[in-house]
Amino acid sequence: MAEDQVIVGLEVHCQLDTKSKLFCGCSTDYRDDGPNTHVCPVCLGLPGAMPVLNKRSIEYAMKVAKALNCTVLHESEFSRKNYFYPDLDKAYQITQYDKPLAEGGYLEIESDEGGERRIQLTRIHVEEDPGRLVHMGNAERGKYSLVDYNRAGIPLIEIVSEPDMRSPKEARKFLNKLRATLEYLSVFDSDKEGSLRVDANISIKGNERVEVKNITSYKGVEKALTYEVTRQKNLIRRGVRIERETRHFIESTGITQSSRSKEQEHDYRYFPEPDLRPLHVQSWVAGIVLPELPDARRERFVAQYGCSLNHARTLTGELKLANFFEKIVAADPQGLSTLAATWIADTLIGELNYRSMSLDSVDAAQFTELVDILKQGSITDKSGIEVLRIMLDQHMKNEPAEAPAAIVSRLNLAKTSGDTGIITAAINEAITENPKALEDYFAGKGGALNFLVGHVMKKTRGKADPGELNRMLVEALKKKEA
Ligand code: ZN
Ligand code: MN
Repeated sequence: MAEDQVIVGLEVHCQLDTKSKLFCGCSTDYRDDGPNTHVCPVCLGLPGAMPVLNKRSIEYAMKVAKALNCTVLHESEFSRKNYFYPDLDKAYQITQYDKPLAEGGYLEIESDEGGERRIQLTRIHVEEDPGRLVHMGNAERGKYSLVDYNRAGIPLIEIVSEPDMRSPKEARKFLNKLRATLEYLSVFDSDKEGSLRVDANISIKGNERVEVKNITSYKGVEKALTYEVTRQKNLIRRGVRIERETRHFIESTGITQSSRSKEQEHDYRYFPEPDLRPLHVQSWVAGIVLPELPDARRERFVAQYGCSLNHARTLTGELKLANFFEKIVAADPQGLSTLAATWIADTLIGELNYRSMSLDSVDAAQFTELVDILKQGSITDKSGIEVLRIMLDQHMKNEPAEAPAAIVSRLNLAKTSGDTGIITAAINEAITENPKALEDYFAGKGGALNFLVGHVMKKTRGKADPGELNRMLVEALKKKEA
């Protein structure tokens, strides 16, 4: 390890996508409803209310444990974690302490140097989500907070990694891979606001570590850690000792801020939850059958569709993307795979990101038609991008969707190939208009041909097939020489 090696460990809280809460029958589908409408005596922590364990959440947690190669413990147990805070109605959280559901395990990520790298896990435990505080007003005008217990009792798993990541980028890769794995297991919905929260431990080798709490976005994790790396390295350079402390990430400014440390020094007085029996789930976990996971699907995409490793990695990195790809190529895997992989991984994702659009807004049938047109070679790649952009823009503006073929004919984008007359005319024009380039070409200057190609392209408005155009141009130049 280098002297200023960055060391990162993560604690990731993920909401399990069950229908009801962890210890009561309240619906977990609370986001669009008013505050405190998905509550009952159990999740409100009213005196005398007894928790009843939701088996489905344990099944989901075991699926995760198995998929992440963890050891499910012979006996695990719920504990009470006592602390006073308004988002915690009972003044304790039911969680797992010294007997978590599972220990060990690992997740493989693509390392910064390429190839796979194993990030070891410490443990996975199950716990309930606290409520949600909504802070109103500001410091000058009567600041107050509202509390919403709709979230109280939503099942969470907390996945704790070993400090095995070596850069903010690796931390992001870990999270992306984790998200993909959870989605493949159908136990998690990353589209739901607040479904994932991360606490990150970060240190520079040989120095104290700092904990950055409650980062709520995937991008936020990399940003917060990048900020910390700079801050900590600067302190070390100036000879300032790094204090062990807890910091908060401020999403809007991208910086971390020290939390008053006294508030953080809790004594949680853990003790076993008396209202719930210990769990013995080993025979249950043995019977769980896992679906195909991201790594396996990636290998299959390479073997079955001939995808490049990079394309396969991108396509299988998100469940929706992988499903979309297989839907597109379903009718003609042989003919469409390579084109579809390229157009989805290299073009579509970028165009979607640029517009902050989600894949859900792309019509698979429409996209398949576009790939099919490209396969037939009747339009150039350049025109293909133009058609795709029109499709996406129409969707964004809520305009009726136009079939790719209709766009091609409306804008007269069909390749001029076959109609070589147009290309020949454009070539002749380009040659006449650029005598200097012609001279350069015959003098053996490399850039001249490309220069002429560019001119011909412009004249044919990108509709000429680049290969054909090149061939015809070289042919025409040969004639000139003779
Ligand atoms: Zn409830
Ligand atoms: Mn926790």
